[in-house]
Amino acid sequence: MPIPLQDGWIYGPVHSRRYGRSLGVNPLPLDRKLCSLDCLYCQYGFTRAQDTAGRAEVPSAPEMARAFEREFARLAAAGDVPDWIHVAGNGEPTLHPDFLEMSRALQAARDRHLPASRIGLLSNSMHLNRDDVVRALNECYDDPAMKLEWGTPECFAAMNQVSPKGFRRVVDGLKRLDRFAVQALFLRSPRADNTTPRELDGWLALLGELRPYRVEVYSIDRPPQSEAQVTAVPKAELEVIAQRVRGLSIPAEAF
Ligand code: SF4
Repeated sequence: MPIPLQDGWIYGPVHSRRYGRSLGVNPLPLDRKLCSLDCLYCQYGFTRAQDTAGRAEVPSAPEMARAFEREFARLAAAGDVPDWIHVAGNGEPTLHPDFLEMSRALQAARDRHLPASRIGLLSNSMHLNRDDVVRALNECYDDPAMKLEWGTPECFAAMNQVSPKGFRRVVDGLKRLDRFAVQALFLRSPRADNTTPRELDGWLALLGELRPYRVEVYSIDRPPQSEAQVTAVPKAELEVIAQRVRGLSIPAEAF
């Protein structure tokens, strides 16, 4: 079953299995998921809209700036400092039309009120053809965690239900980042399986080329939409995959 959408621009702090105590930032519409992918395993259900966010339905960068000021000052005054501030939300956050301006406002408010909190981003890696997105990631984020979990364009297309052309766009885009972490979810389903030898060999070759500073290996932790018939990969198998990443001298952890 899909989980409900976030109903605010700032939510939490919540406990995340990968990051500990984390405050969430959602720069996307509150009433629908907005994403350029349609992953078989998405916790918000299948994607209905893949376009860029219209300015009328997302908070403007100045509105987000005021919300950051208000909420971060309140948390600091209460001594309630989160380990992380994560930009994620109801889909793909880099689809915000003023992503760079919003990210700069976030960084400035963090520096003022919560300097001990690190800023992370969970992104699907699809919009690194935009200069403003690349600039924001290089300038404003302590830990951009980028999706890269396929070894071939065919698996990319099957897992994300989009054109295989996006695979090259992701790989070329990641080369534009100064540094990044990789988030990789492994699954099996009748429609796609990114744990086959061909997929894993291709994925490891990409990691060797792109050199992320950390790789997170995980699987689904809650059942997604039942039509996708997705099954989780056991932890022991994830550990073997993480070990192969470490063999490239890249730090890796299985969750
Ligand atoms: S990239 Fe994230 S939000 Fe978008 S469909 Fe995939 S899992 Fe869902």
